[in-house]
Amino acid sequence: MTASDESVRREEATSGAVLTVDLAALRDNYRTLDRLSGNATCAAVIKADAYGIGATAAARALAAAGCGTFFVALPSEGAQVRQVLPEAAIHVLNGLFPGAAPEFERNGLIPVLGSLAEIEEWAAHCRTREKRLPAAIHVDTGITRLGLGPEDVDRLVDGSTLLGDFELSLVMSHLACADSPDHPMNARQRKRFDDMIARLPKVPASLANSGGVFNGPDYHYDLVRPGIALYGGRATVRPQSALKPVVHLGGRIMQTRTIDAGTSVGYGATWTAQRRSRIAVVSVGYADGYFRLLGGTTDRCRAFVCVDGRRAPVVGRVSMDMITVDVTDVPPEAAERGAYVELLGENIGVDELAEAADTIGYEILTSLGSRYARVYSGA
Ligand SMILES: *Cc1c(COP(=O)(O)O)cnc(C)c1O
Repeated sequence: MTASDESVRREEATSGAVLTVDLAALRDNYRTLDRLSGNATCAAVIKADAYGIGATAAARALAAAGCGTFFVALPSEGAQVRQVLPEAAIHVLNGLFPGAAPEFERNGLIPVLGSLAEIEEWAAHCRTREKRLPAAIHVDTGITRLGLGPEDVDRLVDGSTLLGDFELSLVMSHLACADSPDHPMNARQRKRFDDMIARLPKVPASLANSGGVFNGPDYHYDLVRPGIALYGGRATVRPQSALKPVVHLGGRIMQTRTIDAGTSVGYGATWTAQRRSRIAVVSVGYADGYFRLLGGTTDRCRAFVCVDGRRAPVVGRVSMDMITVDVTDVPPEAAERGAYVELLGENIGVDELAEAADTIGYEILTSLGSRYARVYSGA
């Protein structure tokens, strides 16, 4: 047993839950998306700590699967990834923050410039440094967040020499409705994107997030930028090719108690046993990203865990540090003190839990708590 095995074991023994990140599944998902993307380069979006699974571990695993291009949201995230991937192209989606150009250069980060002000600042930095440093340009085709509009593109191309000051490496835009392939917004954005890239120098173009990958070759251009699908989350309302769950969350049972019919459980007494029941108390709560909305009332249970292959409902309110689960129909030996229940994994999907909490898989993953013992398998 190595020192790090020992520390993982100690962490597991002292934590309420174990979060296992399956890096082999992550690599497989990357290869699946790469195949689906045809001739386009498949990049990886690893912002927000790689959607909660750990940016450096994810970056290493994805690089091992052949990924050489990455996107993060913030320059601080880019600097962290640079530590483990000295050669990768790392783009920063939230663009150039005022005064941050030297940090971008120092860490070899590629800003995704989303306004004329950012382009001017990057160009000025490049002139000062007498280097044509790479940058991507973000054009807005309808999501109305970041990006140059058509008039900005005109001013850049016809009214300035700024494009001569830096190396334009990529032109990208972002789809507002990629998860709904039949939404008219998709075709509208594609048309606007075509019009805008035609006005700009001929460099690689990128439009698709995960949903865009599933929307077919018309959306792939030269480079695709999947995030959620890499992590096993649903990216489209249409049936999606088999992507593997990457996140497995096991919660520890602290005790199991038997209660009589008519006994209520938890804060607010929102759930009352209708029969003699066994209740397992599990050491995970809303402070760990297990949303309070997932609690079950007498009338309606929202969320399930899996114990020994059987689904068991979360009953009563979710507390800060614990949940209560009705394990009456689970064999007693499977729900003893010290056993683990599956909160996320093969049986309880990220999207199932998201639906139960009236949200999306993205929010479930990026809310995963910091108190879990984290285990990386398949490295
Ligand atoms: C987050 C993000 C992505 C990845 O989106 P998914 O839906 O997770 O695949 C791609 N492009 C941009 C601009 C993003 O902000």
